[in-house]
Amino acid sequence: MKTDTSLPPVRGKILQNASLAPYTWFRVGGPADWLFLPADAEDLSLFLRELDPAVPVTTLGVGSNLIVRDGGIEGVTIRLMGKYWGEVSAVNATTLSAGAGALDLAVARAAAANGTRGLEFLSGIPGSIGGATRTNAGCYGRELKDVLNKLEGITRAGEPVAYQGDRAEYGLPALKMDYRHSELPEDFIVTRLLLSGDGTDDPDAILADIETLQARRAETQPIRDKTSGSTFANPDPPGTPDQRSAWKVIDAAGCRGLRVGGAQVSEKHCNFLINTGNATAADLEALGEFVRARVLDTQGIDLRWEVRRIGRLQLPA
Ligand SMILES: Cc1cc2nc3c(=O)[nH]c(=O)nc-3n(C[C@H](O)[C@H](O)[C@H](O)COP(=O)(O)OP(=O)(O)OC[C@H]3O[C@@H](n4cnc5c(N)ncnc54)[C@H](O)[C@@H]3O)c2cc1C
Repeated sequence: MKTDTSLPPVRGKILQNASLAPYTWFRVGGPADWLFLPADAEDLSLFLRELDPAVPVTTLGVGSNLIVRDGGIEGVTIRLMGKYWGEVSAVNATTLSAGAGALDLAVARAAAANGTRGLEFLSGIPGSIGGATRTNAGCYGRELKDVLNKLEGITRAGEPVAYQGDRAEYGLPALKMDYRHSELPEDFIVTRLLLSGDGTDDPDAILADIETLQARRAETQPIRDKTSGSTFANPDPPGTPDQRSAWKVIDAAGCRGLRVGGAQVSEKHCNFLINTGNATAADLEALGEFVRARVLDTQGIDLRWEVRRIGRLQLPA
């Protein structure tokens, strides 16, 4: 995108040539041509209505499932951050309303404080609730789709749209949410969700369960490293019983601890890649592709990337 492009006026912030590495868990990646931090849903909608339709738009959550490539992102990158986007409130005893920028953990904790059972699993996912929708994030046997009641968002043309119920066009089935997958239109921006649990309980008991889940995570995953969680989805179809988990086939292929540049396959959980300090996005992607090739050669399993890789390989000249 040319730097002389005039963008529509906004009430939030627009930053030019803004580094995106600080906005991702891996801490790698080039700059956004433009980074837009909308003040609220109306600001976002008006901006998109006025923005030249030819300009590409990309939405970031908190970057816990992303490799932003070293060449950065063309066009406008949008991040929903600040009080407005992170607001979570109780609608009734079992339903909460959450801004798309709210952390999953904050939603789980708000549900617990409200005495709502069934949203505890969200505490295991270190992303935003908007990002969780796109990837149908899940753990401990539950996925976002199991608790999603209504989804509000804005199309690339700036139109507010809500998905709810069983309608053909804007009903929840149209999103085809499945294991780590949704068919939410690529340029659709989630702005707010209604999430429903399945009962009520003592808030302290729910909070205690959340703490147990978090302690279990810290034991088994390198959650303090610069990582992006599970790199590959579990094999589908799964093959033999030993080939049901991505980490098992990666381990069996001898990839635990492998390195490319500053990127490493985690010793603690070998479906996690980590940036040991000076990795580039290219190192991480090359290591992931190397692991895929080795698993295919030795196990006959073609792993599918779960981590999303976005942006340009190199900065434009
Ligand atoms: C230590 C660790 C553990 C993890 N464990 C799990 C786990 O157990 N289960 C699991 O499912 N995932 C897990 N993840 C992966 C990740 O946390 C989830 O995929 C999470 O839902 C991503 O949310 P995010 O806000 O970080 O999204 P990002 O990584 O920023 O973006 C992911 C995708 O969502 C899109 N997106 C983000 N926000 C919006 C929005 N408002 N509207 C539309 N699209 C949007 C982006 O464009 C991108 O395509 C883990 C990650 C880490 C680092």
